[in-house]
Amino acid sequence: MAYSAAKTDLDDLWKRTQMRLLDEYGEGTYASWLKPLAIIDQQEDCLRLAAPNAFMREWINNNYAAKIKTILQSENNDIQRLEISVNSNDSDMARSSEVLLDMPEVSSNLDPRFTFDNFVVGKPNELAHAAARKVAESETVATFNPLFLYGGVGLGKTHLMHAIAWHIKNNHPNRKVIYLSAEKFMYQFIRALRFKDTVAFKEQFRSVDVLMIDDVQFISGKDSTQEEFFHTFNALVDQNRQIIVSADKSPSDLEGMEDRLKSRLGWGLVADIHPTTYELRLGILQAKAEQMETVVSPKVLEFLAHKISSNIRELEGALTRVVAHSTLVGREITLDTTQEVLRDLLRANDRRVSIDEIQKKVAEYFSVRVSDMHSPRRARTVARPRQVAMYLSKQLTPRSLPEIGRKFGGRDHTTVLHAVKKIEELMVEEKSMCEDIELLRRMLEN
Ligand code: ADP
Ligand code: MG
Repeated sequence: MAYSAAKTDLDDLWKRTQMRLLDEYGEGTYASWLKPLAIIDQQEDCLRLAAPNAFMREWINNNYAAKIKTILQSENNDIQRLEISVNSNDSDMARSSEVLLDMPEVSSNLDPRFTFDNFVVGKPNELAHAAARKVAESETVATFNPLFLYGGVGLGKTHLMHAIAWHIKNNHPNRKVIYLSAEKFMYQFIRALRFKDTVAFKEQFRSVDVLMIDDVQFISGKDSTQEEFFHTFNALVDQNRQIIVSADKSPSDLEGMEDRLKSRLGWGLVADIHPTTYELRLGILQAKAEQMETVVSPKVLEFLAHKISSNIRELEGALTRVVAHSTLVGREITLDTTQEVLRDLLRANDRRVSIDEIQKKVAEYFSVRVSDMHSPRRARTVARPRQVAMYLSKQLTPRSLPEIGRKFGGRDHTTVLHAVKKIEELMVEEKSMCEDIELLRRMLEN
């Protein structure tokens, strides 16, 4: 029958779409929001889905519908529209009451690796780290409440929050600590609303000593959740309970957040985590290699610290891949195998800077002329900047030594090699050289 064939096709289409959504959003989000969606049918160019309830439908419409549509279209370009309705049949009610049963478990699991012991401190995160320690070690509420941690993706916000929770759990097992993502907070709240159980919802937070909410930028724009968060927040602060919040932006930069909530969030201590520096990346790699009980040569670690500057999560991932590869194939980790194993990642981190840009920036930085980069002049005042530019060309572009030599007034590749070695030496000897290189690298990266 034509109908059943079409139905199987639709089911397959939906399965493929779900797999891609899982890939796109990760397990947590997928399980909470996307997996519960069911496919109904396709009517001409409109694909119809069913969500378990109205809150979820609204949330999915606001946050995931566009992506779902894009994926569906790429699977079947007849689909132009997406319609999500609310499905309220019996099996759904059965599932919902199961959900209600695990409601008391508000706090999320803590990652055992995210402790203070495993946190490498450097310039970019020292303030955030000190503040987190202070909160963790205070017998009472720290002088700053709330503690607001912010910084880009993968820079250690969640790690610090879990570290605080572990510390308190280990030293004061009877203090009640709740850690949860803003998304989960919202989800719990929406469920409470649905089951008209907001009293129980509030009750859970009332008895808490320390409340941590991760990624609060997530609740921006969701007015009723913001409202609830604001009240919970005020109630806890009034009772002198510690609150710790993280976000990807400073309180004042949080878009779609009510002004009074923004200002409330900024009341305590606002500590930001800056993008990583080369030193911090290297320190983290050394610590991780040690934890993995693997010997990785300093050259390889330096290479990774240079090349992967996006964030710490990616840096860790790179090291794990290199180590896993060497364990599996039983070969030693060398620069070559590292480059081979990480080819795709390195390409993504490639800054695609040209040698011309490097020459221009370096000349500007050291106040010499761009033409000095090509000239035969050997005076130290121009020779050193030229060497720096050669070094950066080697580090930041995929060009070979002879190619680089040609760009610097037709110099020999041994001259370039010499320059690279010289700058590496100077970076060890002189702090100022390290700083110059780091600064230039940063300017060129953007
Ligand atoms: P964020 O929450 O800011 O996106 P995470 O806290 O999830 O970032 O950190 C990403 C990864 O990097 C985690 O595996 C974490 O353990 C690691 N990491 C971040 N900062 C550090 C640090 N200073 N020392 C050691 N590991 C770190
Ligand atoms: Mg995080």
